[in-house]
Amino acid sequence: MSLHLFTQNGDTFVFHPVTLQSARLSAKGDFPLWPSCTTLDLKGKTPAVPSAGTLVLMLTYACNMACRYCCQGEIPDTEQFELPEEIARKSIDWLISVSGNNPEVGLGFMGGEPFMKFQLMKSLTSYAREKTRKAGKSLKIGAMTNGLLLTDEIIDFIASNTMQLTVSFDGPLSVQNANRVLKDGTPSYEKIVPNLLRLTSRCPFVSVRPTVFADENLDEVFAECRRLGFRECRLATVSSSLLPDGIQNDESTATDALISHFTRQADRLIAASENRDKPAVSMIAFDAVFREAVKDVVIANDELRPPRRRWFSCGAGRSFLTVDVRGNIFPCPRFMALPAYCMGSVLDGTFEHGDLKKSLVLEGEECRECWARHLCGGGCIVEHVSGTGSMFRANQNTCRLRKSKYEQAIRVACSLDTPSLEFMMKYLRR
Ligand code: SF4
Ligand code: SF4
Repeated sequence: MSLHLFTQNGDTFVFHPVTLQSARLSAKGDFPLWPSCTTLDLKGKTPAVPSAGTLVLMLTYACNMACRYCCQGEIPDTEQFELPEEIARKSIDWLISVSGNNPEVGLGFMGGEPFMKFQLMKSLTSYAREKTRKAGKSLKIGAMTNGLLLTDEIIDFIASNTMQLTVSFDGPLSVQNANRVLKDGTPSYEKIVPNLLRLTSRCPFVSVRPTVFADENLDEVFAECRRLGFRECRLATVSSSLLPDGIQNDESTATDALISHFTRQADRLIAASENRDKPAVSMIAFDAVFREAVKDVVIANDELRPPRRRWFSCGAGRSFLTVDVRGNIFPCPRFMALPAYCMGSVLDGTFEHGDLKKSLVLEGEECRECWARHLCGGGCIVEHVSGTGSMFRANQNTCRLRKSKYEQAIRVACSLDTPSLEFMMKYLRR
């Protein structure tokens, strides 16, 4: 394992994969005085498997929209595809029983469109509140919605529960209407936008998640989401492996487009921080994926703090679990199409972490040798499985994107002087 070196716009940067420190090399090419990568022994430092903290319930597979890239196809609104209340309650009991010393547990509602089951959602929230109160824990709830059913009653519920809500919405009218249509094929933008404006005016804490194809103008997507009042935007790309037959998405081109986007964001953030331009820094902070990468790299450069190395990219299969409509436990909702990753059932209480407790940073074929492994944590397991057939072999497109994002974050962190960095960090907060 060696230091990672890269050059951009004539500057050369260096990153230490174990201490997570980074620097811009001087014109003479002097290297900073860092410990060698091989003398640092991290054996036995992998974090233990945490207790479960959040459970997502698939309330229904049915949906009131017909998005062009949806992986779930046409699912009828029948009981066979809905979570029975009895299984949902068992799931909540199970979550509390496996949550160990966690003082707080999270309950997420997904679908399909989860607000099609609003009465069930309300009933389960009351049940979970009562159960967690008796267990001496607090409860947070969340959901992912397409925004179509956001009535005043539902917005009241979201506001009164300070629900961690993410709206799947693709931004500009032309993009939203091309990708996300109603069941009868008619456009959705005009129907959803008034709901979103009422939502964000009452609940300024909600986020948006646009899903984009390669050819989208990302600046316009961000600008529209900001105009609608969201707190932050977490951009996702269309995953080819999940697309219905007949819809094409060139993942390599999509990756190139996002790499260009991160490069532009880095250029803008450097200029905005040097010019003390608060609105421009805040605009970039809206891009949650890039903001988090920059903050991670800047914080890692603080010699007074011990490095926060990532061993996992997300909590799926460890602190974060999902229950499908039959009570089967999966790592996260995107695993439900992969029966081999079923971890047990809340009906009989069986539960095994299996390979999900393994850190790809240690066991992934590419990850264990990757310079970015302790920033990245090994990537998204679903993306690896869908791209290569194995969770232990990395999806090259997502890797290329992740590495580029961290290189741009390193470039930002190492190009700014201390006052500019302090200014940037102040306004990158959310
Ligand atoms: S997923 Fe890719 S970028 Fe992330 S650690 Fe593994 S090889 Fe590196
Ligand atoms: S495994 Fe992938 S899709 Fe699932 S929660 Fe983690 S990052 Fe997200």
